[in-house]
Amino acid sequence: MAIETPAPVAAPAYWHTLGVDEALNKLQSDPEQGITSKEVAVRIERYGTNELTEKAGRSPLQIFIDQFTNIMLLMLMAVAVVSAVLDIQAKEFPKDAVAISSIVVLNGILGYMQEMNAEKALAALKRLSSPKVRVIRNGEILEISGKELVPGDIMLLEAGVQVAADGRLLEEQNLQVRESALTGEAEAVNKEAHLILEADASLGDRLNCVYQGTEVVQGRAKVLVTKTGMQTELGKIASLIQDVETEDTPLQQRMSQLGNVLVTGSLILVAIVVGIGLLNKGNFGDLLKTSLSMAVAVVPEGLPAVVTVTLALGTQRMVRRNALIRRLPAVETLGSVTTICSDKTGTLTQNKMVVQGIRTGQHSLQVSGDGYVPTGEFTILGNPPEDSHLTVNNIPEVQQLLMACVFCNDSILQQKDGEWIIIGDPTEGALLVLASKGGCDFSEWQHRMPRVFEVPFSSERKRMSVLVQGEHGGNVLFCKGSPELTLECCTHIQIGDQIHAIADFQRQHVLAQNNELASRGLRVLGFAYRTLPELPAGGITEKDESNLVWVGLVGMLDAPRPEVREAVKRCREAGIRPVMITGDHQLTAKAIAEDLGIAFKGDQVITGKELELMSQSELEQQVNQVSVYARVSPEHKLRIVQALQKQHNFVAMTGDGVNDAPALKQADIGIAMGITGTDVSKEASDMILLDDNFATIVAATEEGRVVYTNIRRFIKYILGSNIGEVITIAIAPILNFSVPLIPLQILWMNLVTDGLPALALAVEPAEPNVMKRPPVDPRENIFARGMGSYMVRIGIVLAIITISLMVWAHGYTTTHFDNVYSANRWETMVFTTLCIAQMGHAIAIRSNTQLTIELNPMTNPYVWGSVIMTTVLQLVLIYVEPFRIFFGTYLITSTELAVCFGFSALMFVWIELEKLAIRWWLWQRQS
Ligand code: ATP
Repeated sequence: MAIETPAPVAAPAYWHTLGVDEALNKLQSDPEQGITSKEVAVRIERYGTNELTEKAGRSPLQIFIDQFTNIMLLMLMAVAVVSAVLDIQAKEFPKDAVAISSIVVLNGILGYMQEMNAEKALAALKRLSSPKVRVIRNGEILEISGKELVPGDIMLLEAGVQVAADGRLLEEQNLQVRESALTGEAEAVNKEAHLILEADASLGDRLNCVYQGTEVVQGRAKVLVTKTGMQTELGKIASLIQDVETEDTPLQQRMSQLGNVLVTGSLILVAIVVGIGLLNKGNFGDLLKTSLSMAVAVVPEGLPAVVTVTLALGTQRMVRRNALIRRLPAVETLGSVTTICSDKTGTLTQNKMVVQGIRTGQHSLQVSGDGYVPTGEFTILGNPPEDSHLTVNNIPEVQQLLMACVFCNDSILQQKDGEWIIIGDPTEGALLVLASKGGCDFSEWQHRMPRVFEVPFSSERKRMSVLVQGEHGGNVLFCKGSPELTLECCTHIQIGDQIHAIADFQRQHVLAQNNELASRGLRVLGFAYRTLPELPAGGITEKDESNLVWVGLVGMLDAPRPEVREAVKRCREAGIRPVMITGDHQLTAKAIAEDLGIAFKGDQVITGKELELMSQSELEQQVNQVSVYARVSPEHKLRIVQALQKQHNFVAMTGDGVNDAPALKQADIGIAMGITGTDVSKEASDMILLDDNFATIVAATEEGRVVYTNIRRFIKYILGSNIGEVITIAIAPILNFSVPLIPLQILWMNLVTDGLPALALAVEPAEPNVMKRPPVDPRENIFARGMGSYMVRIGIVLAIITISLMVWAHGYTTTHFDNVYSANRWETMVFTTLCIAQMGHAIAIRSNTQLTIELNPMTNPYVWGSVIMTTVLQLVLIYVEPFRIFFGTYLITSTELAVCFGFSALMFVWIELEKLAIRWWLWQRQS
């Protein structure tokens, strides 16, 4: 059919008032062929891409202003004001005030840029996971990105997809759509293509149309795209569009609490110093200067930037390992996971099914062949000599079963670039391959017996039925699904070409066959059918699915992913318990779980049915012992997560279906499947597995632990230094010395000499034992596990070293030099010692237990790079005149510099000795 470019569609077009043909006509489209690629290009030009302009959230100005609401920055601003007043009174240029203000503004700009970048990065990550759409173009089914849709496209919908554009239904099977995004109505609505509605029908009543942003809960449909981009109903509601969430991570929240603690602590300290000073009749001006320096010293100005960069780098490393983070807190909390609940099919297994066995009432067949290549042999097992004439072509039950495989199927088997591939569900694809091996001509069959109705597969019903028009009048209903459930719908069984009422022993025989296949780890499907003389009016009902004739079973191999065994082992070593939650049969689940090391011989398996009989408290009692749940439905997953959480587990849970969304939301880390996952499950998740692989969850957990360890490491590093600075400044007036550091020098230390090595520490690679120790409690205090005492201890050591140097340098300079210059000289030595001592700290803090000589410097060359760079910069401040003048330092001699280095080295020595002491203590405890 030649398709011409349609006239632009008048807006608003009441598509719900038009019949199917009229709508197709208006958009010059064809339900079987769609539109041509040429036409797509023309329409993209005319209507634009199918994209929504982003939500106008906080304005950039608001984001900028918000940067200055941080309590630590507010304190710095106060310091700047006081210091400016003091300098102006003394008729000096307010250098410190200018420097502090610049730092505050710079911090604001950096914070602003980071926040904008973080939002962009998260939005980009979300786009990466943006939905794909199946369309018909040029008569072919294609998968395209949602933004390439144009009016006139024929879009195919199935359960789990998020509708990517507004459209008029052309045909539908049991279509149910949740439109809460538009109407606020949580209940899914049934849609019907054949309706033609009044123009004034409200959005919620337009049952023959679907709208962008809504979710297909059940069924499938063919839809004519009518509106795209900002023309859609969703586009009109600006506030609902592409909401980019910017949640603070638990650490970021704790950081702001930390800010409060630091500011309060420093104010108390200032009060004490000023109080003691005044009691000792000290000079108020000097005391004020001391207080200002202490206030600047206590604020870890560089810390927020380092935290943000670390989290951003963490998400990047995770993406490289195929884990796409959707919500930032997950980066950090992943390290705390204690239990990973995983689906089986596709996550633990390869999701590449190959049928290996067929069982009918009287025959057992073995099928050979690899992958999706449709060639293989059928061997009839235990074939008595008198049956040697039997082939797959003359066993009626097998022929009937192959027919069911073809008709009860929505997948496509294709050869692409010489390789056989499946479009659709691999389970169904494997059935097409089987039918092909048996010599079936699908298209000829499907042509002779067209499909009339369908109830698609769902994880709740665990079966699928189709109704096709029979060749000689009448209709045939084919059903396939979980063997036990399908068998329950059967009253008859086919033996040869005869149909008999099914006897109890035959039911037992079928169940035994099922168990035999399942215990080999095979995924088993049962097949049944019946004829229906009358076409049911509105579609297939449960009644139509009763009184079925049992045909047989198919067992297919879905091999475990080879890398999962190792990943499970690593999980166990890391104190993480893997749990399998599957819709599959308990014996199949058990066989695979045992093979992968998730469960062991004799372990209990709980089935969905058993779960239903259990109260929540009974489940809570057992949940810590059970590693396999089989034949479960999505709603059971929610109960399992809740029970695990009640037992203080921190749960990561995978899911792919629409109905997995509540469990994904409930889990501490909800994980959706990138390949097989529905849009709805992705939307509910914190993280997406781009390769659907269990091993990726373990890799992401490892990255999460590395991020958390590094964050703790640089917080220790930065705050230890701040404590050292504050003590040094506080002690100076008590020793009757002037304030050794001016605010500008303190800012330099906090931002540059602490900031640069801290950034380098943020990329420290995983320690060898990172997956050999138990997970940390996500609720643990940031100072837990010795971190608080370490910071105080190191702060005191740093202060003792600096104060010792200060006492020596003060004595030395005042006795050897003219008083006017001596102050600057010893102060510069104090400043230098504090900075260089931190370099030793940075080198030593790379590991808590390993000595620096035991660490390979090349595993984190940035630390050494930043230490060398910072040392050089520090020397520039002393030996390059303009910097010397600006920072108020003094040109100290090389001997004096060597003394500073000597004192600084003590810091490094101390930390290394601490490590040796810890080792000795551990060794003592062990022996
Ligand atoms: P997991 O939950 O680990 O992904 P699963 O894929 O086996 O496991 P479901 O998809 O809920 O879980 O399938 C449950 C059962 O339904 C399967 O064991 C199988 O017997 C049956 N089944 C699976 N796919 C189909 C299908 N396309 N048509 C009919 N029945 C199916």
